Amino acid sequence: GFLHKSKLVAELDRWLIPATGKPHAPTAEDLARGLAQRELFLVLQPKFDLGLNRVVGAEALVRWQEPSRGVLSPDVIIPLAERHEMIVELTWQVLGLACRQLQRWRRAGWDLSLSVNVPAAWIKSADLFEDFDSLIDQYDIAPRDLILEVTESTTLGCLGYARHILAGLRQRGCRLSLDDFGTGYSSLMQLHRLTFDELKVDRSFISRIEQDKRAEAIALSILDLGHRLDMAVVAEGIETPEQHALLRAAGYDLGQGFWLARPLSAKDFSHWYQQLVKLITPAL
Ligand code: C2E
Ligand code: MG
Ligand code: MG
Ligand code: MG
Repeated sequence: GFLHKSKLVAELDRWLIPATGKPHAPTAEDLARGLAQRELFLVLQPKFDLGLNRVVGAEALVRWQEPSRGVLSPDVIIPLAERHEMIVELTWQVLGLACRQLQRWRRAGWDLSLSVNVPAAWIKSADLFEDFDSLIDQYDIAPRDLILEVTESTTLGCLGYARHILAGLRQRGCRLSLDDFGTGYSSLMQLHRLTFDELKVDRSFISRIEQDKRAEAIALSILDLGHRLDMAVVAEGIETPEQHALLRAAGYDLGQGFWLARPLSAKDFSHWYQQLVKLITPAL
């Protein structure tokens, strides 16, 4: 058949790989299709109790299996979803996948929690409690196993309303975590006004903790602050055994990072966790 020249050019433009070696960035239409076709999936980064040296759960991190571009990461997915008003739908999909994972773990008899990153737009979305309750019902999970990670900037501008929503979620049993702590502004105001169960210290303070006295002072002060407010304090981005030892000795409750474990596919997580349980559980 006849193919119009401009159509051919557009088609070439879509398929040609630029000099950077990467295909063109996905468009809003690509993401809309991806959501409809269920192309999103989760990778799971194990989260450890540093004192007991035990896995307590994982953080769910979104990935997109885009047919012509391969696996895309959150730094591409999240800004695109936010720009084109698909972030609320994306978050519900991620929560659905997380609940399904929790259901599988429960059925396997594994006592693990799952943390999900939730953006401001989701917190402000309509019918949140109704949709949340039906999600919990659908998968028959305990809200206690779900940890919602909120970033510092999330609640800015609408502290009153965010407070109402977050309090309602916490009342239902969900745990709340303040993510990337130390990177935003008015963060102490949020800690003052909202109740969190967990404080996640940003990677930037953790990665320099051994060489940089200032980073260490900040990481230790945040730990003290968190404990005074009855929160569990989490170190993210632990990349070396020295950082791990220092944070353990300082009394950090929980930790995540490439040194402890990389994010894994659900299948790899299962295998890895099964091996670990065999190692730590003496034969009866
Ligand atoms: P985050 O919530 O702070 O998640 C941790 C990020 O740090 C993950 O990157 C993880 O792979 C990476 N990481 C973990 N350990 C280490 C380490 O030892 N060293 C280094 N250098 N990095 C480490 P990822 O998966 O690319 O996610 C980046 C950010 O994207 C997340 O930061 C989170 O803010 C956002 N994100 C991820 N998944 C979702 C999601 O489902 N929904 C939303 N709204 N945001 C998400
Ligand atoms: Mg997070
Ligand atoms: Mg974080
Ligand atoms: Mg971070």
